[in-house]
Amino acid sequence: LSEKLDKALHILKGHGKITEVNVAETLKEVRRALLDADVNFKIAKDFTTRVKEKAIGENVLTTLQPGQLLVKIVKDELTELMGGEATGINLSGNPSVILMSGLQGSGKTTFSGKLANYLKTKKGKKPLLVACDIYRPAAINQLHVVGDQVGVEVYSEPENKNPVDISLKAIAYAKANGFNVVIVDTAGRLAIDEQMMDEIANVHAAIKPQETLFVVDSMTGQDAVNTAKAFNDRLNFDGVILTKLDGDTRGGAAISIKSVVDKPIKFIGTGEKMEAIDVFYPSRMADRILGMGDVVSLVERAQEQYDEEEARKIQKKIAKNEFGFDDFLAQIQQVKKMGNMKDLVGMIPGAGKALKDVEIEDDAFKHVEAIIYSMTPKERTKPSIIDMKRKTRIAKGSGRKLEEVNQLMKQFDQMSKMMKMMQGPGGKNMMKMMGG
Ligand code: GDP
Ligand code: MG
Repeated sequence: LSEKLDKALHILKGHGKITEVNVAETLKEVRRALLDADVNFKIAKDFTTRVKEKAIGENVLTTLQPGQLLVKIVKDELTELMGGEATGINLSGNPSVILMSGLQGSGKTTFSGKLANYLKTKKGKKPLLVACDIYRPAAINQLHVVGDQVGVEVYSEPENKNPVDISLKAIAYAKANGFNVVIVDTAGRLAIDEQMMDEIANVHAAIKPQETLFVVDSMTGQDAVNTAKAFNDRLNFDGVILTKLDGDTRGGAAISIKSVVDKPIKFIGTGEKMEAIDVFYPSRMADRILGMGDVVSLVERAQEQYDEEEARKIQKKIAKNEFGFDDFLAQIQQVKKMGNMKDLVGMIPGAGKALKDVEIEDDAFKHVEAIIYSMTPKERTKPSIIDMKRKTRIAKGSGRKLEEVNQLMKQFDQMSKMMKMMQGPGGKNMMKMMGG
């Protein structure tokens, strides 16, 4: 997804200028990228519609760096779509009972261990793991292995085939032995079936957990949405756990599930190890989906591209003795755009502070621009016609002193000469430097 979105946003950045047409094109690509990541069609469509409305509302096209603003809007919307703020886990009970639900293989047992470890080491809790997957002896063993790994006690009754009974006894055991969190691992099936649903619904009704978590494999894409809906209809769960997000950057499941069941995603699993658990931060996930780390360099690269093209054009003009004040103005505007490097640099962690005292003057070129704007088009394309009379008029028109006009003319003259000299080997790079 990240790659595709990069490409989509690159369409925008590749153009020096953004038009309504290429905003629409870009959003089409964004939508395609979301669909490829298994985001539900309607959600993807609504998403791009909202981004478009916002882009129009914020007048993206008229800003200095429309590409960046559009990236920001896409990111903000994506964050919002995944729940906005990070949502914690409810630990108000004594003990707090947490029930795991989800299909077989989704990662319930693994996550139970991870969560126990997390609550023990990060939150100073004393958790008890409970084995309620009564169908496979291996399942109980697996939880014991996991419990040993993280140093958390596991409650199990290998002969007992009643999960309601086991979980109630486990809670009583926890109360009697000073455990303040009880994590109930349950059995899953490969697909939704009524018996499984009845079973977990019965456990749910009996133990009245503070938190019912739905565990889902993030690689299952669109299926994950249907499963989430089925579980939510029965359990009205409190949160979602997205497992197996390691290596896979697709955020499709995260986006779709949140939209369909409107429950927060609370944690993600990022590997098989017990430490591979992270609190889910919607904005970080949006970063990840957008490959935000690359956005700055992308913007810079696009800028370079634009400059090169521009430089080539100018080279031709110089060769033909056609370089005029209009081109000069264009160059200034390029340099001014680079003035916004301050914003760019500010995005680099740590750099913002270091550069706080460095002045990057935004309107260093204001006066020069004013003078050029006071020239007629003819004067701009053929500066050699600017005589004393014209200079005086230009000075008056721009509200600048005659000396300033003279100075600019002199600078322009020198620059034109220099640029002519730079034609030839090595000149191209110099041109690029001048282009910004
Ligand atoms: P359960 O049937 O829902 O209890 O699922 P398990 O906890 O047994 O997990 C099924 C498989 O997925 C196991 O091989 C786990 O090691 C693996 N697994 C679980 N969570 C993750 C994860 O976050 N990343 C990776 N790579 N594997 C995971
Ligand atoms: Mg299991």
